[in-house]
Amino acid sequence: MAKTDIYTVDTSHLDFDPNDVWDKYAAERDKRIIKEGFGQYQDIKGDFSNFIDDHYVEPGFTRDPIEDDVEVVIIGGGFGGLLAGAHLRQAGIKDIMVIDKAGDFGGTWYWNRYPGAQCDVEAYVYMPLLEEMDYVPKERYSHAPEILQHSINIAKKFNLYEKACFQTEVTKVHWDEESNRWIIETDRKDQIKAKFVAMSNGLLTRPKLPGIKGIDKYKGHTFHTSRWDYDYTGGSSEGDLSNLADKRVAIIGTGATAVQCIPHLGAAAKELFVFQRTPSSVDVRNNAPTNPEWAAKLQPGWHRHRMENFELVLAGGTPKKMKTAGTENIEAADKKINEVDDGWTDAANSAKKMLKQRPKLSAEQKKEVRELADMKKMQEIRDRVGNIVEDQKTADALKAYYWQFCKRPCFHDEYLQTYNRPNVTLVDTKGQGVDEVTANGVIVDGVEYAVDCLIFATGFEVGSNYTSQSGYDVIGRDSLSLKEKWKDGLSTFHGLFSKGFPNCFFLGFTQTAVTQSVTHTLDEQAQHLAYVIKHAINADATTVETTQAAENDWVGVINSHSESVEQHYIKCTPGYYNNEGKTGNNNGFLAGQFGAGPEKFFRILKDWREEGNLQGLEIE
Ligand code: NDP
Repeated sequence: MAKTDIYTVDTSHLDFDPNDVWDKYAAERDKRIIKEGFGQYQDIKGDFSNFIDDHYVEPGFTRDPIEDDVEVVIIGGGFGGLLAGAHLRQAGIKDIMVIDKAGDFGGTWYWNRYPGAQCDVEAYVYMPLLEEMDYVPKERYSHAPEILQHSINIAKKFNLYEKACFQTEVTKVHWDEESNRWIIETDRKDQIKAKFVAMSNGLLTRPKLPGIKGIDKYKGHTFHTSRWDYDYTGGSSEGDLSNLADKRVAIIGTGATAVQCIPHLGAAAKELFVFQRTPSSVDVRNNAPTNPEWAAKLQPGWHRHRMENFELVLAGGTPKKMKTAGTENIEAADKKINEVDDGWTDAANSAKKMLKQRPKLSAEQKKEVRELADMKKMQEIRDRVGNIVEDQKTADALKAYYWQFCKRPCFHDEYLQTYNRPNVTLVDTKGQGVDEVTANGVIVDGVEYAVDCLIFATGFEVGSNYTSQSGYDVIGRDSLSLKEKWKDGLSTFHGLFSKGFPNCFFLGFTQTAVTQSVTHTLDEQAQHLAYVIKHAINADATTVETTQAAENDWVGVINSHSESVEQHYIKCTPGYYNNEGKTGNNNGFLAGQFGAGPEKFFRILKDWREEGNLQGLEIE
């Protein structure tokens, strides 16, 4: 496309040429496409199996196998499972068993305890059930220990420890037609029957390793960030990694996890080498302790209102002001419509302002304006790099050239500054990744960086087949395998039900709306499943199952939006959001999700519940 053809709206107010930026984005994207896609990564097994050991429990735990018949089994004790448990308790369900391979509740926050771990989404939005728990987070962006403790507190409050089954991995779930029960098999030889089963396997559960040549040859100390080895590094989630004072350390990866732990590594290690393939966009963090005066003013309903406000602003909508006082952002002036008003909502906010000034634009031109607002935001983020990082070459390499939501946006006030330390070196692989790992270290561009410790901040398996992520298959009616049914893509009704799998509920991103605050979607799904289970119990029903017609209709709804979602993500730099740049084959994290935005999705679920006749479900 000729440069001048891209935008039809006025761009003269911008201090950059959007056509140049567009070209740069495309060039940066193209050089990163790897033909293997997800195939570039390898499973954690063999020599690497200790990478997924649980360091937080005493080794050698044993127990007798369990035989039980339970009303509801929830697989997964992260926020999805906790929310399901909490809403089921509120609906009066007494017999609940939560199963998790971890040693406690917490899910992602149980496993990810790396130094600096923190939630990027405002805690007053992200942390679930705040009003039910009568809790206001200690700071605007919570650190991991507080979130883990909040998980544990939810489990205590809703009595979910009663039958909790930890250090237990589900190996198979199958439907027994005769007893109308699910049979849950585990690696501890349990045989647990359940009338209902809810699966909340989590999104970021299976750490992944790149298939770098020689990766199994490295002889030094090594681990994945999701199982941080404090015995080796010293310190804690708060940092102070004192054992690294005489160590040369390498970290591969510069995603959201790396951005948070690199400042601590840089502060502690004798030398730190950061191996980068794609830079993250790193905006201002601006954390602060919670203002007690603000917290004291919060009125009933504030939490849900703030959650909804955040997602609606992000989607470009106009949220309503809350009628009661006390929901305003700490620093913001009163009566702000964008309550959270941080780096997440910035571009959406400025697009809104730009659109207000130009009321007569076509739908296509409005899309252009939103793109330009995104470009402007990313330009500010790149300028921030230039203002902070002293070495010009390092600064240039740290500038992210893609749309803000192509990758998880990051926020930090010490990450970029870390590159000004004399002991820290950014090794930019110019989009190509590390060339080779040797017995001593890492090779890029023919240079070997010998290190004592090699840390993988290389993320998690996301976007692959559902059962490959969960680690077990689900066998429904007539021996129907979920793995088989969903091999070419998800197929559900409202994201929660799938034909052939009665009394079975899915939580997570399974043809649902993707929220930037994951707990919001999980909360809505948990409310929905509690509503359905309560109705089924009240109706003395044996089974509840979607009709094929309802499922087909929902798949149709999903497909009707898929093209516009895909059009955006095809332009993105590769990553798990867009199936590593290979869109179009119904894979990848965003493929098959509800593309018309969270508000609409939640309204569909709410209206359906309010209708009250369980339209689309067969109750027998
Ligand atoms: P990511 O998948 O985001 O990052 C993995 C990193 O490894 C990327 O920088 C990737 O580069 C790099 N990498 C992969 N292969 C190679 C290679 N061969 N050579 C060099 N580099 C390589 O994982 P994270 O653990 O950082 O984050 C995962 C998710 O966890 C986030 O997207 C976010 O959703 C969540 N998270 C959330 C937080 C929160 O605040 N709630 C905090 C931290 C994480 P490339 O980009 O080129 O693929």
